[in-house]
Amino acid sequence: MPRVSLKRQPTPEPIVETMRAHVRANARDRPGVYRMLAADGEIVYVGKSKKIRTRLLSYFRCEYPADKGARIVREAATIEWDYHPSEFAALLEELRLIKRFRPRLNVAMKNDARHFAFIKLTRGAAAKLLVVRGASGDDAQIYYGPFHGAQRVSEAVRELNDALGLRDCRLDQPMHFADQPELFQIFPRTPGCIRHEIRKCLGPCVGGCTEAEYEQRVQLVRSFLDGADDGPMNNLRADMEAASERLEFERAASYRDKLRRLEELRHQFIKFRFAVETLSFVYTVPGYDGDDRVYLIRRGRVRAEYAMPRSEADRIRLLEMVADVYQPVERSGSQIPSHEIDELLLLSSWFRRFPDELGRSKDAEVFLSNPPIVASASAA
Ligand code: SF4
Repeated sequence: MPRVSLKRQPTPEPIVETMRAHVRANARDRPGVYRMLAADGEIVYVGKSKKIRTRLLSYFRCEYPADKGARIVREAATIEWDYHPSEFAALLEELRLIKRFRPRLNVAMKNDARHFAFIKLTRGAAAKLLVVRGASGDDAQIYYGPFHGAQRVSEAVRELNDALGLRDCRLDQPMHFADQPELFQIFPRTPGCIRHEIRKCLGPCVGGCTEAEYEQRVQLVRSFLDGADDGPMNNLRADMEAASERLEFERAASYRDKLRRLEELRHQFIKFRFAVETLSFVYTVPGYDGDDRVYLIRRGRVRAEYAMPRSEADRIRLLEMVADVYQPVERSGSQIPSHEIDELLLLSSWFRRFPDELGRSKDAEVFLSNPPIVASASAA
């Protein structure tokens, strides 16, 4: 469990007792999302539960000060909560609140996404690939992932950089493209590293290529990461075979290892693309007190949510929404806009934990051809 330092004095016992009494008197055992607020109003923690009352009372039973619950209560002066129709609805709302408020203790205690890595392609001239743990900053063109094994992904990215001549230096390394004549007078003659000299980088920092030439390589890397082009692997395979024919077995083995790293990356793409494409369906979730909801999930993201129709007009509106969400043709491949990553991870983990829930899902076409019956209309 990560260590979390207290930002303020621990909440006095009488206030903790007041919070407990408030929960006992008012909370009900139904799905919802709760917020722990410090005395100055800062939201320090957001959580969800399918039984709000039971979950909140458990915070006051933590025996050891190091327990996660005890540490959260020590920082909180107020507890607020809202009910939601189902655990799934609460899960989505929890994610939205965490993204909006970035509560300190959620960030400090978060560990579920740590074993994932993403490949980030930065924006701007002389884009570069970075291996990151999650969406970060706003300098990304696109993210690819998630992948398991940050170390192996980093090695594969290194091979890709070498194979296509992309830079891997610091983001703030000044670039001097060959087609920037106004800068010619101040061109550095040597790069900040030897990669250009050993032909592993086009050398955009020393006028080794034009901006368009570098961008062409960036497009090749995107094609590879999209699964549309095998160029880097084919080149390595050809180099390996040539080295082998020249009886340079050590060199051939080195090419073979590089090739394997790229093949593994490619294999992960295929699995991931499959997962994204699989997470595209209409998902109906029974709700508390009959508040059933329909979630329109496409490519791993909830595109729309609708209460189960109770009138013919509602029903028509729902069918229109289904058509709006699923009919437009969308990009395929492993590209994930950064704002969609957390939701994609959340949905994959939900359906992995509860595979039976897939039994409530329907392909959009099937849903449209066999839409839900409106209770009042069918009773008439
Ligand atoms: S040669 Fe220049 S652009 Fe390429 S990695 Fe080295 S410093 Fe970066």
